[in-house]
Amino acid sequence: MSKVHNFSAGPAILPQSAIDNAIDSLKDFAGTGLPLITVSHRGKEFVAVMDEAVANAKELLGVPEGYSVLYLQGGASLQFYMVALNLLGDGQTAAYLNTGTWASKAIKEAKLVGNVQVVASSEEANFNYIPKEYSIPADAAYFHITTNNTIFGTQIHEDYEVNVPLVADMSSDIYSRPVDVSKYDLIYAGAQKNIGPAGATLVIVKDEILNKIERKLPSMLDYRVHIKGESMYNTPPVFAIFVINETFKWLKSIGGVAEIQKRNIAKATLLYNEIDRNPLFKGAAVADDRSLMNVTFVLNDSSLDADFLDYCKNAGISGIKGHRSVGGFRASLYNALELESVQALVDVMKEFESKYA
Ligand SMILES: *Cc1c(COP(=O)(O)O)cnc(C)c1O
Repeated sequence: MSKVHNFSAGPAILPQSAIDNAIDSLKDFAGTGLPLITVSHRGKEFVAVMDEAVANAKELLGVPEGYSVLYLQGGASLQFYMVALNLLGDGQTAAYLNTGTWASKAIKEAKLVGNVQVVASSEEANFNYIPKEYSIPADAAYFHITTNNTIFGTQIHEDYEVNVPLVADMSSDIYSRPVDVSKYDLIYAGAQKNIGPAGATLVIVKDEILNKIERKLPSMLDYRVHIKGESMYNTPPVFAIFVINETFKWLKSIGGVAEIQKRNIAKATLLYNEIDRNPLFKGAAVADDRSLMNVTFVLNDSSLDADFLDYCKNAGISGIKGHRSVGGFRASLYNALELESVQALVDVMKEFESKYA
């Protein structure tokens, strides 16, 4: 079969070495003679995987002392509620930046717990930019941002410096670039965009912020319980964690987040340059806020959409149909996607131009 270029927004492309080692683990896990998914998570072989997955998560992102790394379940969507349940005390207000569908869902869940103030929103422009002018109440329990808006193709390009604890949904750009973790009090990410298969959620939390919790929490929704249990309070998603660790090993082998950032910039630049040059297409997001991970773009003449998708299909380009809330196309350029795949897409755009422009 000829090469398929995987631009899927999530679940998404993973490094081939991670896939190959995952397949091997289903045959004989770490010399046990048994499939990974059939042995105890408390056996020394899996405990070693968990320990390594935590150590690699910390090493790659430079997680400072005083933070815990957790592998939980329930996806980023459960974190929308769990963050508020743990960090938004009675009578307090949490501040949120509304930059898209996922941010809106985070706001909705937090409102079930307490007061929420949306400090700014780009909804009036179909979330095609990141609001910059707003103030955060000095007494807010925390400020919540979505660093990369997977659906709309916008991204916050720097680590914010704010006057209250900072919480970030980094589901679709974690490990795509260096991050100063010390600026954040809690980071969460569903694995299936950039680091692994669905089923595990990575949480990086500053331990100190959990000292303020006053309400009684269900064990499964209490970060302190999972920290104490070292992500094994209950049975962890062993397969997902194994694959995440293999992805981390690959990322380390190529030079870590500094190197992947360079590659991600090169990929996104190649594609945005073509979108801007090609008279048939235009970008969906405001230029300054364009995402390096999810490139959203449309045809000026949307009646050609189906034809373009056919061209893509013939060239082995998969997963670029846009989300229904933006239309057009979305090319997700996660870490494991190679420049060669972006070039294949750019070539199709040029070919399409020669037929239709
Ligand atoms: C995909 C995504 C989510 C939802 O993740 P689940 O793991 O499916 O709950 C939340 N936030 C962002 C930014 C996403 O890209």
